Amino acid sequence: MTARLLPGAPVADALLARVAGRVRVLAQVPRLALVRVGDDPASVSYVRSKDKKAREVGIDSEVHALPETTTQAELLALLARLNADPAVSGILVQLPLPAHIAEEPVLLAVDPAKDVDGFHPFNVAQMWAGHARLNPCTPAGILELLDFYGIPVAGQRAAVVGRSEIVGRPMAAMLLGRDATVTIAHSRTADLGAVTREADILVVAVGRPQFLTPDIVKPGATVIDVGINRIEVGGKGKIVGDLHPDVVQVAGGLTPVPGGVGLLTVAQLMANTVTAAELVQARG
Ligand code: NAP
Repeated sequence: MTARLLPGAPVADALLARVAGRVRVLAQVPRLALVRVGDDPASVSYVRSKDKKAREVGIDSEVHALPETTTQAELLALLARLNADPAVSGILVQLPLPAHIAEEPVLLAVDPAKDVDGFHPFNVAQMWAGHARLNPCTPAGILELLDFYGIPVAGQRAAVVGRSEIVGRPMAAMLLGRDATVTIAHSRTADLGAVTREADILVVAVGRPQFLTPDIVKPGATVIDVGINRIEVGGKGKIVGDLHPDVVQVAGGLTPVPGGVGLLTVAQLMANTVTAAELVQARG
């Protein structure tokens, strides 16, 4: 058996088309504030692509590129201004922050109603309680992908490998919210294969090339590869996921890397920005 490929592009296109439609019927154009501190090249590139995508779907976007020397107090003061600005619907602070800035007070300082990353503890609690409106973008994008390809979630056994706050934990909470029976595995899991072999839906977010081998995949399972790993092949850089290439022989469906989940994260951020704007409009 060879797995069906589940590319992210058509899912992202469909999601972005819906976002653009929702933008058109809002009384006020949504505005996304993107905050970046320092010049980490990956952060610069992520913020640039978020800014570009926002404009493509009719969302106004403003980039606040602060110098590496920015103090915690200065960053918090900016967030207070953005929270109070009625024109700003969504606020995203690009992580990681420079080492001299503590992350937790920054995440706490974003108004939960404008927290388009879904990282504020209020939104995290809402998500685990099963009624969040603003969910973290990568796992929310993965649910979009499962729905797009008609993969059932309710009643299925799901396993999530990785328990980070941005992928693994919220993914588990959201699969639970969709009535899957969920197991979370991590680096201290005693028998990883015993967990993964049970899974009809297997989400792998570890960050290690070729980590998930075919012998621990249930035949026919849907495997979602979240990993983005930069490796060298023949002296050239290449992006690969967390799956061993032979998983394709066992799985029923899998997401490619590149071209899979990565495309959905930014699309979902746009969806969250519109959701935040709709919430503000509904509040009056
Ligand atoms: P992370 O914070 O480094 O977490 C990795 C997780 O993998 C940890 O929970 C860790 O367990 C677990 N792990 C490590 N070794 C393991 C092992 N041998 N067996 C089982 N679990 C193990 O990473 P992350 O931020 O979640 O990101 C994971 C990957 O996804 C990275 O490649 C990242 O670049 C990628 N990513 C992609 C997107 C996207 O848009 N496609 C978005 C975010 C992240 P412990 O908790 O026990 O240490």
